[in-house]
Amino acid sequence: MGDVVTDGDFAQSFQIEGMNVRGRVVHLTSVADRVLGAHNYPDIVSGVVAEALTLAALLGASLKFNGMLTLQTRSDGPVRMIVADYMTPGVLRACATFDREAVEGLGPSPSFGALAGAGSLAITIDPGEDMERYQGIVPLDDRGLAHSAVSYFERSEQIPTAIKVAAAMLHTKGGQPGWRAGGIMIQNLAALGGNAPVMASGDAEEAWTRASILFATIDQLELVDPQVESERLLYRLYHEDGVRAFAHQPLSFGCRCSAERVVRVLSSYSRDELSDLVEADGLIRATCEFCSASYRFKPGELAETQFART
Ligand SMILES: [Zn+2]
Repeated sequence: MGDVVTDGDFAQSFQIEGMNVRGRVVHLTSVADRVLGAHNYPDIVSGVVAEALTLAALLGASLKFNGMLTLQTRSDGPVRMIVADYMTPGVLRACATFDREAVEGLGPSPSFGALAGAGSLAITIDPGEDMERYQGIVPLDDRGLAHSAVSYFERSEQIPTAIKVAAAMLHTKGGQPGWRAGGIMIQNLAALGGNAPVMASGDAEEAWTRASILFATIDQLELVDPQVESERLLYRLYHEDGVRAFAHQPLSFGCRCSAERVVRVLSSYSRDELSDLVEADGLIRATCEFCSASYRFKPGELAETQFART
């Protein structure tokens, strides 16, 4: 289902030795380019979609079962909705709904608050099969998606967390300009009474403060530049404390849309609604919001499906 996997697209977990702090790094190169290339969004919208994609990978890579993690914003600004999802074992997709004119009216580098306005971020974990879905909803933070996700962890899971995500259009040596995105998170598992090294609570607090101060020194370029290897970044930050980085988990782009799914959605429409959708050539067209795949149907095909279902 995913595209070709390159080593530029991965999630990597790490553990800071002697601290009850764990984290994860995500790098997206061809996946970011593939997801955004399908959309032709204005650059500032592409930027936040790439950040959402990175965040979905940061959070999704921790799933311990087969399933899906979805991030979805809903808000009253020019960008009304951003959706990014992660499906095990590392398949990503994302899209946004926005008012193009209003976005362009904001100028070249609006704040996240100006782009999204007020609203919420929902994080849904769906283990599939008959298992129950879990959803947490937090208010959108003006400072961006990463800050919104931090408050999700603090409210829903009571785990002190720090997250950074960044995205940029980069010009690589001799190559085409391309979207690059990256992110990093750390979590203080001592708050859970975790299983890592036994520490007095004062030490654990001190360790978290130290990990957070070092984390704050990460700049945007270190996250998006493919020349900055994640191991080097982790070494720069935490070599004094000892950091153990685990294997790369590959990430890829993939969409789950199919003609059957589109038919299922359209089958919930009334006859009148369907006839409004018929174009001059007598066909109904539907385009996938995530991958821009286009599907065509004759109204008769849908009517038959509709009758078959009732
Ligand atoms: Zn699709």
